[in-house]
Amino acid sequence: MLPTFVRATPDGTERGDFLALDLGGTNFRVLLVRVRNGKRRSVEMHNKIYSIPQDVMQGTGDELFDHIVHCIGDFLEYMGMKGASLPLGFTFSFPCHQKKLDQGILLKWTKGFKATGCEGEDVVQLLKDAIHRQEEFDLDVVAVVNDTVGTMMTCGYEDPQCEVGLIVGTGTNACYMEEMENVELVEGDEGRMCVNMEWGAFGDTGELDDFCTDFDHAVDNNSANPSKQRYEKMISGMYLGEIVRNVLLDFTSKGLLFRGRLSERLKTRGIFETRFLSQIESDRLALRQVRSILQHLGLTSSTCDDSILVKEVCTVVARRAAQLCGAGLAAVVDKIRENRSLPQLSITVGVDGTLYKLHPHFSSVMRETLRDLAPQCDVTLLQSEDGSGKGAALITAVACRIREAGQH
Ligand code: ADP
Ligand code: MG
Repeated sequence: MLPTFVRATPDGTERGDFLALDLGGTNFRVLLVRVRNGKRRSVEMHNKIYSIPQDVMQGTGDELFDHIVHCIGDFLEYMGMKGASLPLGFTFSFPCHQKKLDQGILLKWTKGFKATGCEGEDVVQLLKDAIHRQEEFDLDVVAVVNDTVGTMMTCGYEDPQCEVGLIVGTGTNACYMEEMENVELVEGDEGRMCVNMEWGAFGDTGELDDFCTDFDHAVDNNSANPSKQRYEKMISGMYLGEIVRNVLLDFTSKGLLFRGRLSERLKTRGIFETRFLSQIESDRLALRQVRSILQHLGLTSSTCDDSILVKEVCTVVARRAAQLCGAGLAAVVDKIRENRSLPQLSITVGVDGTLYKLHPHFSSVMRETLRDLAPQCDVTLLQSEDGSGKGAALITAVACRIREAGQH
């Protein structure tokens, strides 16, 4: 539970050009976001995707941040804006301890990142240091933003009832608006503050032990962060394929699949991608997708029964993930309802993440679970369009608006 120092959502008067960075998963992006107010109220975005090579992700912090600054420089040149010193919002989707909006002490890396010398450091300072090393341009870093918060803000720009943000992509996490009187880590009792739950870490002190299977333990043991992010490892894109692969290995060794014969490929970690779960589940009766995926995995002589069973495994693993995620969300919305002493709460949840968006059943199973577990809440799930990029710019825009108002 981390305070984010985000206290206000956009009111529509924000305007200006902002840079945003999005670091925290599969891709690293640099964005230019133009926010217009008044009658032509709109948000226009340009962005470029950069890869973070594995060796940079797991090298030194200086290398990682030098690479980031190099990408920003490339982007500014690409946009013909080199020399402009724009306000910047940094979507940095790892657990950070914040004492103010423009500071974030990295608590620990997750999702495969391992760069040395960053944990315990302020990522804004690391970014500024790298900018100074390069001596090419200057930037005004205004906000460090978690992607959940960015998603909530983006949806909040369209729908003022949006007071929860949810990500189901490489990892999973959520944030929500909490009453200040309940936020013990921050002075003051007035109003609300957005809390970054870091809910992926739920279960790290044993809360999920009763629900974890041998397959979950196998996935956890072979991950970059054993015994951490246990909830995340049962829900998100980085892990679901791996869970399925472990089930298939076990079933094969018991002679239940592929006539008991394993392919070398299936023994390779990560070979069963989470997008296969989506493909297999959108398959019709012919099970053509399943067969072509099995062939890709070197299982050339699979039978029809094999395909049916593999599909069943994918269904069960994704369904459990969506139910677990829905259960977490039910607890959050019901907590908000209790905070406000309402018999019934109507609320919107902004959601982002490729797994949520592309899996054919994830969102409907989540809705079902919400209806079961939080019957006193009417929850609207609103997909965000690029929550982490746009949201960082909107938070920066709100902060600039408040800063300017203070100066006049
Ligand atoms: P991030 O969370 O890194 O910002 P995304 O929201 O795009 O990025 O999520 C990426 C994750 O989505 C990957 O880990 C991958 O496993 C998963 N994914 C990609 N394509 C699909 C798909 N078609 N169905 C389900 N999951 C997918
Ligand atoms: Mg993302």
